[in-house]
Amino acid sequence: QTETEVELIGKNEMLTIYKPREKFSHKGTYGHALLIGGSHGKMGAMILSARGTMASGAGLVTTFIPKCGYIPMQSVVPEAMVLTDADDEKLTSITFDIEPTAVGMGMGMGLDQKTQHAFQKFLKSNEVPLVIDADGINLLAKHKDDFKLIKPQTVLTPHPKELERLLGSWKDDFDKLKKAKAFSKKYKCILVVKDAHTITVFEDKLYINSTGNPGLATGGTGDVLTGIITGLIAQGYEPLTASLFAVYLHGKSADIAVEDYGYQSLTASHVIDYLGQAYLDLF
Ligand code: AMP
Ligand code: MG
Repeated sequence: QTETEVELIGKNEMLTIYKPREKFSHKGTYGHALLIGGSHGKMGAMILSARGTMASGAGLVTTFIPKCGYIPMQSVVPEAMVLTDADDEKLTSITFDIEPTAVGMGMGMGLDQKTQHAFQKFLKSNEVPLVIDADGINLLAKHKDDFKLIKPQTVLTPHPKELERLLGSWKDDFDKLKKAKAFSKKYKCILVVKDAHTITVFEDKLYINSTGNPGLATGGTGDVLTGIITGLIAQGYEPLTASLFAVYLHGKSADIAVEDYGYQSLTASHVIDYLGQAYLDLF
């Protein structure tokens, strides 16, 4: 049993992480993020994620979604490119001919068995830095044998229910973090334990975020967070650094937006719209 290190993450830490935008740069400089997910009735999760990725500063964003999402995605997120599965309602085969610099997956993806097979196949062959959220986590948790498909440096972003599916139940917060650390160590992955104070766990280190508010307790905010983490990794931030920075910016954006919208009326879209303010607040 090694000692746990705990770090509180605030603006000072972010300033050491932040990479400024270079004058002589182009969209290729800022990476290509690929988001994989969506299913009939849950395409909004992918739309929010894609908008979050764009707002994080990624150079290019492509979404891989079932066919029924094609028109809504192209209409609502014209900045993003779209690749579609052969199936209308769910993902059945994940193949593409682009070379992303980061992949985020699972948002609104559903739990269909065909999707599960496509997901497992993708995990086996994927070599690109990966963020797994939502139904990606739920699918992993359905087959504990699949945990071994988690490659080192993968980021997982469970909310409390998803974390419980992953780790089993816990007695108290100490027990929860102990289990999270053990999981992170075993699979060498980064666990973003989402909560009022999100704690990012990497092996024996815990990073406690200082931003965010209960306005975030609303549908879609987690999808936006995954989009931001993926966008930052695509831009060249290390997966752990990207996770810490994204969680901070996401919370900060909500803290600024809540001044205009209030806790009750804050939505996931506001978190995207105010992300620029969160960046500007760093200076
Ligand atoms: P999800 O449940 O996947 O949509 O994720 C919800 C997001 O909102 C996570 O980033 C949480 O950390 C954040 N969140 C939810 N409830 C609160 C709260 N009461 N205070 C601060 N952040 C919250
Ligand atoms: Mg979620």
